[in-house]
Amino acid sequence: MTATISPLIAGNWKMNGTRASLDELSALAGMLTSGAAPRAIVVICPPATIVAAAARQGAPSGIVVGGQDCHVEVSGAYTGDIAAGMLADAGAQYVIVGHSERRSGHGETDEQIRMKAIAAIGAGLKPIICIGETEAQREAGDAEAVVASQLAGSVPDAAENHEVNIAYEPIWAIGTGRTPSNEDIAAMHAFIRQKLVDRFGEKGLSIRILYGGSLKPQNAREILSIENVNGGLVGGASLLASDFYTIISAV
Ligand code: PEP
Repeated sequence: MTATISPLIAGNWKMNGTRASLDELSALAGMLTSGAAPRAIVVICPPATIVAAAARQGAPSGIVVGGQDCHVEVSGAYTGDIAAGMLADAGAQYVIVGHSERRSGHGETDEQIRMKAIAAIGAGLKPIICIGETEAQREAGDAEAVVASQLAGSVPDAAENHEVNIAYEPIWAIGTGRTPSNEDIAAMHAFIRQKLVDRFGEKGLSIRILYGGSLKPQNAREILSIENVNGGLVGGASLLASDFYTIISAV
């Protein structure tokens, strides 16, 4: 982990969770406040319907809340969408943009994701911009080219002047229980770091690069200690407070 970057662990609950799930948040809060203070910033990204309640409930224990997506516009005739400012108004501080499930399920392009990140920054949110290759792309030897192109297209100019987080999530590792080797994670994170430095200069050294994809209590310590892995984006294992707490404690 790069010494100057404060680590961050974010949990993406995806389309899981109702008000009853806030009990899990309470359990996590209890664990976080009863043990040693966590070294990582702890973020939970619940469904939008409970962002406000989660933000209220998480605040006393230092858990911060994020959205899972936002619209590029500030307001308007966009039925069903949520503006970044609405998430901020509900108490969110972060927002995931460009998750592979949005890229594939909603056809989101790098350009749209970049605009979403700009909208997030404009609303005072800290974007977590997701990138990552498919298995076929990795097998074809194209992983770096894909990631480079996603970085170039989805990360806004002037990102270095705001808190912008990159989440490297190989798509084939999401929800599958499979992860790249530690060497492959190290190589890709070093590649991303170099791209950020090439584009943003020295400030590229302090942009957080999270790893995501089947991060679990069993592999968290190993993966989170890899150089240039500045934290994690966790799906399945964030739904259970005890699993998520173990990952947080591995930092
Ligand atoms: C994710 O969807 O962002 C993710 C990393 O999921 P999982 O941890 O379940 O692989």
